[in-house]
Amino acid sequence: MKIRSGFVSNSSSSSFICAVCNASHTGYDIGLSECEMSECTEGHTFCDEHMPDKSDTFDDRVAKVKKYLKEDFDGSRGEKLDAEDRLTTIIKEKDDCDLEDWISEIDDGDDCYELDPSKCPICTLKSLNDFEALAYLLKKSGQTKEDLAVQVKSEFGTYKKYKSYVGEVDGVVDCS
Ligand SMILES: [Zn+2]
Ligand SMILES: [Zn+2]
Repeated sequence: MKIRSGFVSNSSSSSFICAVCNASHTGYDIGLSECEMSECTEGHTFCDEHMPDKSDTFDDRVAKVKKYLKEDFDGSRGEKLDAEDRLTTIIKEKDDCDLEDWISEIDDGDDCYELDPSKCPICTLKSLNDFEALAYLLKKSGQTKEDLAVQVKSEFGTYKKYKSYVGEVDGVVDCS
């Protein structure tokens, strides 16, 4: 069994932790899709909302449907002709709405696991994982976490003051 990063499970509920915003999505008998989350092939788990903008054009989407009709369509010959008619109409009327609908039908079977790194906010450096961002800052500044602790202690004195300065950094989203 593959152990997924950011996955915590016990007998009653599951939760997924977003590598970008740290939100912990919890629920009973849930999977990533119920939480509107995905995981890339590098093992980053993230809320779908952080995905890099899809920049495919109308033509890219048409090409995707064409490819689907050619390679993966499993219907009768009549259904295939209907589908081709539908596509012809879409192209003629530049009906992007219908095209989007169709793409989402095609993508429906798509797993939200093993996503290509080009769709991952961490792999594309659209967002940083907190631990890696911290490691980067420490490396750049030549400090260790212990140095930071000394600095924070002298600056704020109490955890409460420090905490109110850094603000809330975690959240839980119920996906049940
Ligand atoms: Zn998130
Ligand atoms: Zn990734």
